[in-house]
Amino acid sequence: MEEFDAIIVGSGLAGLTAALELSENGKSVIVLEKHRVIGGRTASWDENGMLVESGFHRHIGYYEALPKILKKAGVDVDDIVQWEEQIDIRIKGSKDKATFGISPIYGPIDTLKGAFGNNDILTLEDKLSLAAFFTNGFLEYTKNPDKLDEYSVRQFADKYNLSENALHYVVIPLSAGVFFLPPERYSAKVFFGLFLPGIPRFYKLRIGGYLGGMTEILAKPLAKQIIKNKGTVRTDTKVTELIMNQGKVGGVKLEGGSEIMAKHVVVAANLGGAQKILKRHFETDKSFENIFALPTMPAVTIQMEFKKPILPVDRTTFGPLTSLASFAEQSRSTFRHVPGRLSIILTPPEKFLDMKDEDILKHVQKDAKELGLDLETELTDYRIVSHPEDFHSLEPNNDHLRPEQKTSIHGLLLAGDYTRQPFFATMEGAVISGMNAAKLILDEKEP
Ligand SMILES: Cc1cc2nc3c(=O)[nH]c(=O)nc-3n(C[C@H](O)[C@H](O)[C@H](O)COP(=O)(O)OP(=O)(O)OC[C@H]3O[C@@H](n4cnc5c(N)ncnc54)[C@H](O)[C@@H]3O)c2cc1C
Repeated sequence: MEEFDAIIVGSGLAGLTAALELSENGKSVIVLEKHRVIGGRTASWDENGMLVESGFHRHIGYYEALPKILKKAGVDVDDIVQWEEQIDIRIKGSKDKATFGISPIYGPIDTLKGAFGNNDILTLEDKLSLAAFFTNGFLEYTKNPDKLDEYSVRQFADKYNLSENALHYVVIPLSAGVFFLPPERYSAKVFFGLFLPGIPRFYKLRIGGYLGGMTEILAKPLAKQIIKNKGTVRTDTKVTELIMNQGKVGGVKLEGGSEIMAKHVVVAANLGGAQKILKRHFETDKSFENIFALPTMPAVTIQMEFKKPILPVDRTTFGPLTSLASFAEQSRSTFRHVPGRLSIILTPPEKFLDMKDEDILKHVQKDAKELGLDLETELTDYRIVSHPEDFHSLEPNNDHLRPEQKTSIHGLLLAGDYTRQPFFATMEGAVISGMNAAKLILDEKEP
Protein backbone atom coordinates (compact mmCIF):
# COMPACT_ATOMS: atom_id res chain seq x y z
CA MET A 1 0.00 0.00 0.00
CA GLU A 2 1.19 3.51 -0.83
CA GLU A 3 2.35 5.62 2.11
CA PHE A 4 3.29 9.32 2.30
CA ASP A 5 4.11 11.97 4.87
CA ALA A 6 1.09 13.93 3.69
CA ILE A 7 -1.93 13.45 1.45
CA ILE A 8 -3.41 16.63 0.02
CA VAL A 9 -7.06 16.36 -1.02
CA GLY A 10 -7.73 18.85 -3.83
CA SER A 11 -5.53 20.53 -6.42
CA GLY A 12 -6.80 24.12 -6.09
CA LEU A 13 -4.33 26.82 -5.12
CA ALA A 14 -4.66 25.88 -1.43
CA GLY A 15 -3.78 22.22 -2.04
CA LEU A 16 -0.99 22.90 -4.54
CA THR A 17 0.55 25.47 -2.20
CA ALA A 18 0.50 23.08 0.77
CA ALA A 19 2.03 20.33 -1.38
CA LEU A 20 4.75 22.60 -2.75
CA GLU A 21 5.72 23.91 0.68
CA LEU A 22 5.84 20.39 2.14
CA SER A 23 7.70 18.77 -0.77
CA GLU A 24 10.23 21.59 -0.81
CA ASN A 25 10.98 20.73 2.81
CA GLY A 26 11.62 17.08 2.12
CA LYS A 27 8.17 15.66 2.93
CA SER A 28 6.76 12.99 0.64
CA VAL A 29 3.39 14.24 -0.65
CA ILE A 30 0.60 13.17 -2.95
CA VAL A 31 -2.08 15.53 -4.28
CA LEU A 32 -5.39 13.82 -5.11
CA GLU A 33 -7.78 15.64 -7.44
CA LYS A 34 -11.21 14.29 -8.33
CA HIS A 35 -11.41 16.11 -11.68
CA ARG A 36 -9.44 15.31 -14.82
CA VAL A 37 -7.86 18.80 -14.71
CA ILE A 38 -5.93 20.39 -11.87
CA GLY A 39 -6.55 23.90 -10.56
CA GLY A 40 -9.99 23.77 -8.91
CA ARG A 41 -11.55 27.21 -9.18
CA THR A 42 -8.44 28.40 -11.00
CA ALA A 43 -8.73 25.87 -13.82
CA SER A 44 -9.17 25.95 -17.59
CA TRP A 45 -10.15 23.01 -19.78
CA ASP A 46 -11.71 21.85 -23.03
CA GLU A 47 -15.48 21.58 -22.55
CA ASN A 48 -16.84 19.68 -25.55
CA GLY A 49 -14.69 21.53 -28.04
CA MET A 50 -14.60 24.96 -26.41
CA LEU A 51 -11.83 26.16 -24.12
CA VAL A 52 -13.37 27.37 -20.86
CA GLU A 53 -12.23 28.41 -17.40
CA SER A 54 -13.73 28.23 -13.94
CA GLY A 55 -14.59 31.91 -14.34
CA PHE A 56 -12.73 35.08 -15.23
CA HIS A 57 -10.27 36.11 -12.51
CA ARG A 58 -8.51 39.30 -11.61
CA HIS A 59 -5.14 39.36 -9.93
CA ILE A 60 -4.99 42.15 -7.34
CA GLY A 61 -1.67 43.99 -7.14
CA TYR A 62 -1.52 43.82 -3.34
CA TYR A 63 -1.45 40.01 -3.31
CA GLU A 64 1.83 38.82 -1.78
CA ALA A 65 1.45 35.10 -1.01
CA LEU A 66 0.32 34.13 -4.53
CA PRO A 67 3.29 35.80 -6.28
CA LYS A 68 5.59 34.22 -3.68
CA ILE A 69 4.40 30.66 -4.30
CA LEU A 70 4.39 31.22 -8.08
CA LYS A 71 7.98 32.44 -7.88
CA LYS A 72 8.95 29.12 -6.29
CA ALA A 73 7.53 27.51 -9.43
CA GLY A 74 9.52 29.87 -11.66
CA VAL A 75 6.59 32.12 -12.58
CA ASP A 76 6.84 35.91 -12.41
CA VAL A 77 3.41 37.50 -12.03
CA ASP A 78 4.33 40.34 -14.37
CA ASP A 79 4.82 37.78 -17.16
CA ILE A 80 1.33 36.29 -16.80
CA VAL A 81 -0.81 39.32 -15.96
CA GLN A 82 -2.05 42.13 -18.18
CA TRP A 83 -2.57 45.11 -15.85
CA GLU A 84 -5.69 47.19 -16.39
CA GLU A 85 -5.82 50.96 -16.39
CA GLN A 86 -9.40 51.31 -15.28
CA ILE A 87 -12.69 49.51 -14.72
CA ASP A 88 -15.85 50.28 -16.63
CA ILE A 89 -19.35 50.46 -15.28
CA ARG A 90 -22.03 50.26 -17.93
CA ILE A 91 -25.19 52.04 -16.98
CA LYS A 92 -28.43 50.18 -17.67
CA GLY A 93 -30.71 51.89 -20.13
CA SER A 94 -28.35 54.79 -20.74
CA LYS A 95 -27.75 55.62 -24.39
CA ASP A 96 -25.40 58.59 -24.36
CA LYS A 97 -23.20 57.72 -21.42
CA ALA A 98 -22.94 53.96 -21.52
CA THR A 99 -19.74 53.64 -19.53
CA PHE A 100 -17.75 55.53 -17.03
CA GLY A 101 -14.40 54.57 -15.73
CA ILE A 102 -13.52 54.32 -12.08
CA SER A 103 -10.86 52.27 -10.38
CA PRO A 104 -12.48 50.55 -7.44
CA ILE A 105 -9.79 48.01 -6.88
CA TYR A 106 -7.07 50.59 -7.39
CA GLY A 107 -8.26 51.61 -3.95
CA PRO A 108 -11.04 53.43 -2.23
CA ILE A 109 -9.46 56.85 -2.63
CA ASP A 110 -9.11 56.39 -6.36
CA THR A 111 -12.63 55.00 -6.49
CA LEU A 112 -13.87 58.18 -4.92
CA LYS A 113 -11.70 60.27 -7.19
CA GLY A 114 -13.08 58.35 -10.16
CA ALA A 115 -16.63 58.70 -8.95
CA PHE A 116 -16.05 62.38 -8.13
CA GLY A 117 -15.05 62.93 -11.71
CA ASN A 118 -18.42 61.73 -12.99
CA ASN A 119 -20.22 65.02 -12.54
CA ASP A 120 -22.99 64.13 -14.96
CA ILE A 121 -23.89 61.02 -12.96
CA LEU A 122 -23.16 61.90 -9.33
CA THR A 123 -24.12 65.16 -7.64
CA LEU A 124 -22.03 66.76 -4.90
CA GLU A 125 -24.47 65.34 -2.35
CA ASP A 126 -23.97 61.82 -3.80
CA LYS A 127 -20.22 62.24 -3.55
CA LEU A 128 -20.30 63.45 0.04
CA SER A 129 -22.49 60.54 1.04
CA LEU A 130 -20.04 58.16 -0.66
CA ALA A 131 -17.15 59.71 1.25
CA ALA A 132 -18.98 59.20 4.57
CA PHE A 133 -19.87 55.61 3.62
CA PHE A 134 -16.30 54.60 2.76
CA THR A 135 -14.59 56.51 5.57
CA ASN A 136 -16.89 55.06 8.22
CA GLY A 137 -16.65 51.59 6.70
CA PHE A 138 -12.87 51.56 6.88
CA LEU A 139 -12.86 53.07 10.37
CA GLU A 140 -15.36 50.56 11.70
CA TYR A 141 -13.49 47.69 10.02
CA THR A 142 -10.26 48.77 11.67
CA LYS A 143 -11.91 49.09 15.10
CA ASN A 144 -14.10 45.97 15.13
CA PRO A 145 -14.38 43.96 11.91
CA ASP A 146 -16.60 41.30 13.49
CA LYS A 147 -19.24 43.88 14.36
CA LEU A 148 -19.34 44.87 10.68
CA ASP A 149 -20.27 41.28 9.78
CA GLU A 150 -23.63 41.93 11.46
CA TYR A 151 -24.51 44.42 8.70
CA SER A 152 -25.27 43.89 5.06
CA VAL A 153 -23.75 46.49 2.72
CA ARG A 154 -27.27 47.86 2.20
CA GLN A 155 -27.87 48.24 5.95
CA PHE A 156 -24.51 49.94 6.33
CA ALA A 157 -25.38 52.28 3.44
CA ASP A 158 -28.68 53.17 5.13
CA LYS A 159 -26.90 53.78 8.44
CA TYR A 160 -24.73 56.44 6.77
CA ASN A 161 -27.48 57.84 4.52
CA LEU A 162 -25.82 56.83 1.26
CA SER A 163 -27.75 58.44 -1.59
CA GLU A 164 -29.70 56.22 -4.01
CA ASN A 165 -27.55 57.41 -6.91
CA ALA A 166 -24.32 56.56 -5.11
CA LEU A 167 -25.76 53.19 -4.18
CA HIS A 168 -26.74 52.41 -7.77
CA TYR A 169 -23.70 53.69 -9.61
CA VAL A 170 -20.89 52.86 -7.20
CA VAL A 171 -21.86 50.49 -4.37
CA ILE A 172 -24.07 48.03 -6.29
CA PRO A 173 -21.43 47.62 -9.05
CA LEU A 174 -18.77 47.02 -6.43
CA SER A 175 -20.74 44.46 -4.43
CA ALA A 176 -22.48 42.57 -7.24
CA GLY A 177 -19.44 42.98 -9.47
CA VAL A 178 -16.84 41.60 -7.12
CA PHE A 179 -18.68 38.82 -5.26
CA PHE A 180 -21.86 38.58 -7.38
CA LEU A 181 -24.19 39.34 -4.46
CA PRO A 182 -26.55 42.31 -4.21
CA PRO A 183 -25.78 44.72 -1.33
CA GLU A 184 -28.76 43.42 0.68
CA ARG A 185 -27.00 40.03 0.95
CA TYR A 186 -23.36 41.07 1.12
CA SER A 187 -21.58 41.31 4.47
CA ALA A 188 -20.19 44.81 5.13
CA LYS A 189 -17.17 43.11 6.73
CA VAL A 190 -16.35 41.30 3.49
CA PHE A 191 -17.05 44.39 1.38
CA PHE A 192 -14.68 46.71 3.25
CA GLY A 193 -12.24 43.91 4.11
CA LEU A 194 -11.55 43.27 0.43
CA PHE A 195 -10.40 46.83 -0.21
CA LEU A 196 -8.66 47.50 3.10
CA PRO A 197 -5.46 45.47 2.55
CA GLY A 198 -4.74 47.83 -0.34
CA ILE A 199 -4.63 50.97 1.74
CA PRO A 200 -1.11 50.57 3.17
CA ARG A 201 0.11 49.40 -0.24
CA PHE A 202 -1.20 52.07 -2.55
CA TYR A 203 1.54 51.66 -5.06
CA LYS A 204 0.41 48.08 -5.60
CA LEU A 205 -3.25 48.89 -6.01
CA ARG A 206 -4.05 47.65 -9.46
CA ILE A 207 -5.76 44.66 -11.00
CA GLY A 208 -4.92 42.53 -13.99
CA GLY A 209 -6.32 39.77 -16.18
CA TYR A 210 -4.39 36.58 -16.86
CA LEU A 211 -2.57 36.00 -20.12
CA GLY A 212 -3.67 32.39 -20.60
CA GLY A 213 -5.83 29.63 -19.17
CA MET A 214 -5.32 29.31 -15.42
CA THR A 215 -4.48 25.60 -15.39
CA GLU A 216 -1.67 26.35 -17.87
CA ILE A 217 -0.23 29.44 -16.21
CA LEU A 218 -0.93 28.86 -12.49
CA ALA A 219 -1.70 25.24 -11.59
CA LYS A 220 0.61 23.38 -13.99
CA PRO A 221 3.83 25.23 -13.04
CA LEU A 222 3.02 24.59 -9.34
CA ALA A 223 2.36 20.89 -10.03
CA LYS A 224 5.56 20.64 -12.08
CA GLN A 225 7.56 22.02 -9.16
CA ILE A 226 5.89 19.56 -6.74
CA ILE A 227 6.87 16.69 -9.05
CA LYS A 228 10.41 18.09 -9.31
CA ASN A 229 10.48 17.96 -5.49
CA LYS A 230 9.60 14.24 -5.80
CA GLY A 231 5.92 14.74 -4.99
CA THR A 232 3.01 13.13 -6.87
CA VAL A 233 -0.07 14.78 -8.40
CA ARG A 234 -2.90 12.44 -9.37
CA THR A 235 -6.10 13.47 -11.20
CA ASP A 236 -9.40 11.57 -11.61
CA THR A 237 -8.96 10.42 -8.02
CA LYS A 238 -11.81 11.17 -5.64
CA VAL A 239 -11.35 10.85 -1.89
CA THR A 240 -14.50 9.48 -0.28
CA GLU A 241 -13.48 9.27 3.37
CA LEU A 242 -10.63 9.38 5.84
CA ILE A 243 -8.99 6.38 7.43
CA MET A 244 -9.12 6.86 11.19
CA ASN A 245 -7.03 4.92 13.63
CA GLN A 246 -7.52 5.35 17.40
CA GLY A 247 -8.70 8.94 17.00
CA LYS A 248 -5.85 9.86 14.63
CA VAL A 249 -6.01 10.25 10.88
CA GLY A 250 -4.04 7.57 9.03
CA GLY A 251 -4.89 8.08 5.36
CA VAL A 252 -7.76 8.24 2.88
CA LYS A 253 -10.10 5.91 1.03
CA LEU A 254 -10.68 6.51 -2.66
CA GLU A 255 -13.73 6.02 -4.83
CA GLY A 256 -13.37 2.42 -5.99
CA GLY A 257 -12.18 1.29 -2.55
CA SER A 258 -8.38 1.60 -2.62
CA GLU A 259 -6.53 3.23 0.26
CA ILE A 260 -3.53 5.52 0.63
CA MET A 261 -1.84 5.93 3.99
CA ALA A 262 -0.18 9.04 5.46
CA LYS A 263 0.68 10.64 8.78
CA HIS A 264 -1.08 13.83 7.71
CA VAL A 265 -4.09 14.57 5.56
CA VAL A 266 -4.72 18.13 4.38
CA VAL A 267 -8.32 18.44 3.24
CA ALA A 268 -7.95 21.24 0.67
CA ALA A 269 -11.28 20.63 -1.02
CA ASN A 270 -13.82 23.37 -1.71
CA LEU A 271 -16.21 23.94 1.22
CA GLY A 272 -18.97 21.63 -0.07
CA GLY A 273 -16.45 18.87 -0.81
CA ALA A 274 -14.74 19.24 2.57
CA GLN A 275 -18.06 19.10 4.41
CA LYS A 276 -18.95 15.82 2.65
CA ILE A 277 -15.67 14.11 3.61
CA LEU A 278 -15.65 15.40 7.20
CA LYS A 279 -19.35 14.69 7.90
CA ARG A 280 -18.75 10.97 7.49
CA HIS A 281 -16.59 11.04 10.60
CA PHE A 282 -17.28 14.13 12.70
CA GLU A 283 -20.95 14.98 12.25
CA THR A 284 -21.55 14.95 16.00
CA ASP A 285 -18.11 16.28 17.01
CA LYS A 286 -18.57 19.74 18.56
CA SER A 287 -15.18 20.96 17.33
CA PHE A 288 -16.44 20.62 13.72
CA GLU A 289 -19.85 22.21 14.22
CA ASN A 290 -18.79 25.56 12.74
CA ILE A 291 -17.61 24.14 9.44
CA PHE A 292 -20.85 22.19 9.06
CA ALA A 293 -22.87 25.31 9.91
CA LEU A 294 -20.97 27.50 7.40
CA PRO A 295 -23.31 27.80 4.39
CA THR A 296 -22.00 27.32 0.85
CA MET A 297 -22.67 29.79 -1.96
CA PRO A 298 -22.84 29.06 -5.72
CA ALA A 299 -21.33 30.91 -8.65
CA VAL A 300 -22.46 30.68 -12.28
CA THR A 301 -20.66 31.97 -15.37
CA ILE A 302 -21.41 32.08 -19.07
CA GLN A 303 -18.50 32.08 -21.51
CA MET A 304 -19.17 33.10 -25.10
CA GLU A 305 -17.25 33.12 -28.37
CA PHE A 306 -17.90 35.59 -31.19
CA LYS A 307 -16.75 36.30 -34.74
CA LYS A 308 -15.25 39.58 -33.50
CA PRO A 309 -14.46 41.26 -30.16
CA ILE A 310 -17.52 42.60 -28.34
CA LEU A 311 -15.60 45.24 -26.37
CA PRO A 312 -12.82 47.53 -27.62
CA VAL A 313 -10.39 46.54 -24.82
CA ASP A 314 -9.97 43.54 -22.51
CA ARG A 315 -11.05 45.18 -19.28
CA THR A 316 -13.16 44.40 -16.23
CA THR A 317 -16.67 45.76 -16.64
CA PHE A 318 -19.60 45.83 -14.22
CA GLY A 319 -23.24 45.75 -15.31
CA PRO A 320 -25.18 46.89 -12.22
CA LEU A 321 -28.89 46.15 -11.98
CA THR A 322 -28.61 43.39 -14.61
CA SER A 323 -27.63 39.70 -14.40
CA LEU A 324 -24.17 40.56 -15.78
CA ALA A 325 -22.42 41.14 -12.43
CA SER A 326 -19.00 41.49 -14.02
CA PHE A 327 -17.55 40.58 -17.39
CA ALA A 328 -14.55 41.01 -19.63
CA GLU A 329 -13.57 40.65 -23.24
CA GLN A 330 -10.70 38.14 -23.30
CA SER A 331 -9.74 37.74 -26.96
CA ARG A 332 -6.59 39.85 -26.56
CA SER A 333 -5.51 38.41 -23.20
CA THR A 334 -6.66 35.06 -21.76
CA PHE A 335 -8.10 33.37 -24.88
CA ARG A 336 -6.31 34.72 -27.93
CA HIS A 337 -7.17 31.80 -30.20
CA VAL A 338 -10.68 33.18 -30.91
CA PRO A 339 -11.61 36.51 -32.55
CA GLY A 340 -14.06 37.44 -29.79
CA ARG A 341 -14.62 36.07 -26.30
CA LEU A 342 -16.64 37.26 -23.33
CA SER A 343 -16.61 35.76 -19.84
CA ILE A 344 -19.51 36.82 -17.63
CA ILE A 345 -20.19 36.15 -13.93
CA LEU A 346 -23.92 36.09 -13.24
CA THR A 347 -25.95 37.51 -10.37
CA PRO A 348 -27.80 36.36 -8.35
CA PRO A 349 -26.15 32.96 -8.82
CA GLU A 350 -28.99 30.85 -7.35
CA LYS A 351 -31.36 32.05 -10.06
CA PHE A 352 -29.21 30.46 -12.77
CA LEU A 353 -28.10 27.29 -11.03
CA ASP A 354 -30.96 25.09 -12.26
CA MET A 355 -31.88 27.06 -15.37
CA LYS A 356 -31.41 25.40 -18.78
CA ASP A 357 -28.34 26.62 -20.69
CA GLU A 358 -30.39 28.05 -23.56
CA ASP A 359 -32.59 29.97 -21.11
CA ILE A 360 -29.52 31.44 -19.38
CA LEU A 361 -28.20 32.49 -22.77
CA LYS A 362 -31.47 34.23 -23.70
CA HIS A 363 -31.64 35.95 -20.30
CA VAL A 364 -28.09 37.25 -20.59
CA GLN A 365 -28.56 38.41 -24.19
CA LYS A 366 -31.67 40.38 -23.15
CA ASP A 367 -29.92 42.02 -20.18
CA ALA A 368 -26.84 42.76 -22.29
CA LYS A 369 -29.02 44.69 -24.73
CA GLU A 370 -29.97 47.02 -21.88
CA LEU A 371 -26.26 47.68 -21.39
CA GLY A 372 -25.91 48.48 -25.08
CA LEU A 373 -24.28 45.16 -26.02
CA ASP A 374 -25.34 42.88 -28.87
CA LEU A 375 -24.47 39.32 -27.80
CA GLU A 376 -26.56 37.65 -30.51
CA THR A 377 -25.46 38.60 -34.01
CA GLU A 378 -21.86 37.40 -33.98
CA LEU A 379 -22.18 34.58 -31.39
CA THR A 380 -20.51 31.32 -32.48
CA ASP A 381 -20.50 29.21 -29.29
CA TYR A 382 -21.09 29.37 -25.54
CA ARG A 383 -20.81 27.29 -22.37
CA ILE A 384 -22.23 27.61 -18.87
CA VAL A 385 -19.77 26.84 -16.05
CA SER A 386 -21.37 26.47 -12.60
CA HIS A 387 -19.97 26.09 -9.10
CA PRO A 388 -22.86 24.86 -6.93
CA GLU A 389 -21.08 24.67 -3.57
CA ASP A 390 -17.57 26.00 -4.04
CA PHE A 391 -17.81 29.24 -2.05
CA HIS A 392 -18.57 29.86 1.57
CA SER A 393 -21.42 32.31 1.92
CA LEU A 394 -20.30 35.92 2.09
CA GLU A 395 -23.62 36.97 3.56
CA PRO A 396 -23.70 38.62 7.03
CA ASN A 397 -23.14 36.63 10.24
CA ASN A 398 -21.16 33.78 8.66
CA ASP A 399 -17.58 34.92 8.96
CA HIS A 400 -17.21 33.70 12.57
CA LEU A 401 -17.95 30.15 11.36
CA ARG A 402 -14.82 29.89 9.19
CA PRO A 403 -12.61 27.14 10.67
CA GLU A 404 -8.88 27.31 11.42
CA GLN A 405 -6.45 25.20 9.38
CA LYS A 406 -5.62 23.23 12.55
CA THR A 407 -8.29 20.74 13.64
CA SER A 408 -8.84 18.85 16.89
CA ILE A 409 -7.85 15.59 15.13
CA HIS A 410 -4.21 14.57 15.18
CA GLY A 411 -2.76 14.69 11.65
CA LEU A 412 -5.82 16.33 10.06
CA LEU A 413 -5.49 19.85 8.60
CA LEU A 414 -7.80 22.01 6.54
CA ALA A 415 -6.85 24.39 3.74
CA GLY A 416 -8.98 26.43 1.37
CA ASP A 417 -10.14 29.98 0.78
CA TYR A 418 -13.01 29.47 3.26
CA THR A 419 -10.67 28.65 6.16
CA ARG A 420 -9.61 31.41 8.54
CA GLN A 421 -7.03 33.80 7.15
CA PRO A 422 -7.17 37.53 6.44
CA PHE A 423 -8.67 37.27 2.93
CA PHE A 424 -12.19 36.40 1.78
CA ALA A 425 -12.74 33.78 -0.93
CA THR A 426 -9.75 34.82 -3.04
CA MET A 427 -6.74 33.15 -4.64
CA GLU A 428 -4.54 34.97 -2.11
CA GLY A 429 -6.60 33.54 0.77
CA ALA A 430 -6.35 30.03 -0.68
CA VAL A 431 -2.56 30.28 -0.96
CA ILE A 432 -2.20 31.64 2.59
CA SER A 433 -4.34 28.79 3.95
CA GLY A 434 -2.13 26.24 2.14
CA MET A 435 0.99 27.85 3.56
CA ASN A 436 -0.51 27.80 7.07
CA ALA A 437 -1.47 24.12 6.81
CA ALA A 438 2.02 23.18 5.60
CA LYS A 439 3.64 25.19 8.38
CA LEU A 440 1.56 23.39 11.01
CA ILE A 441 2.89 20.08 9.69
CA LEU A 442 6.49 21.28 9.35
CA ASP A 443 6.47 22.77 12.87
CA GLU A 444 5.28 19.51 14.42
CA LYS A 445 7.81 17.95 16.76
CA GLU A 446 8.75 14.36 15.91
CA PRO A 447 7.61 12.08 18.79
C1 LIG B 1 -16.15 32.63 -11.22
C2 LIG B 1 -15.06 32.88 -10.22
C3 LIG B 1 -14.38 34.10 -10.23
C4 LIG B 1 -13.38 34.35 -9.29
N1 LIG B 1 -12.69 35.53 -9.35
C5 LIG B 1 -11.63 35.72 -8.52
C6 LIG B 1 -10.81 36.87 -8.66
O1 LIG B 1 -11.02 37.70 -9.55
N2 LIG B 1 -9.75 37.02 -7.81
C7 LIG B 1 -9.49 36.12 -6.81
O2 LIG B 1 -8.51 36.30 -6.08
N3 LIG B 1 -10.26 35.01 -6.66
C8 LIG B 1 -11.32 34.80 -7.48
N4 LIG B 1 -12.09 33.68 -7.36
C9 LIG B 1 -11.90 32.83 -6.17
C10 LIG B 1 -10.72 31.88 -6.30
O3 LIG B 1 -10.81 31.16 -7.51
C11 LIG B 1 -10.77 30.92 -5.12
O4 LIG B 1 -10.80 31.66 -3.93
C12 LIG B 1 -9.58 29.97 -5.06
O5 LIG B 1 -9.24 29.49 -6.33
C13 LIG B 1 -9.94 28.82 -4.15
O6 LIG B 1 -8.89 27.85 -4.12
P1 LIG B 1 -9.01 26.60 -3.15
O7 LIG B 1 -7.80 25.80 -3.34
O8 LIG B 1 -9.36 27.06 -1.78
O9 LIG B 1 -10.31 25.80 -3.64
P2 LIG B 1 -10.63 25.14 -5.06
O10 LIG B 1 -9.94 25.85 -6.14
O11 LIG B 1 -12.12 25.04 -5.13
O12 LIG B 1 -9.96 23.69 -4.97
C14 LIG B 1 -10.55 22.60 -4.33
C15 LIG B 1 -10.25 21.36 -5.12
O13 LIG B 1 -10.63 20.21 -4.37
C16 LIG B 1 -11.13 19.24 -5.29
N5 LIG B 1 -11.93 18.28 -4.52
C17 LIG B 1 -13.10 18.50 -3.86
N6 LIG B 1 -13.53 17.37 -3.26
C18 LIG B 1 -12.61 16.40 -3.55
C19 LIG B 1 -12.51 15.02 -3.22
N7 LIG B 1 -13.45 14.42 -2.50
N8 LIG B 1 -11.44 14.32 -3.69
C20 LIG B 1 -10.48 14.93 -4.44
N9 LIG B 1 -10.55 16.24 -4.80
C21 LIG B 1 -11.59 16.97 -4.35
C22 LIG B 1 -11.95 20.09 -6.26
O14 LIG B 1 -12.21 19.39 -7.45
C23 LIG B 1 -11.01 21.28 -6.44
O15 LIG B 1 -10.10 21.05 -7.49
C24 LIG B 1 -13.08 33.38 -8.29
C25 LIG B 1 -13.75 32.15 -8.31
C26 LIG B 1 -14.73 31.91 -9.26
C27 LIG B 1 -15.42 30.57 -9.27
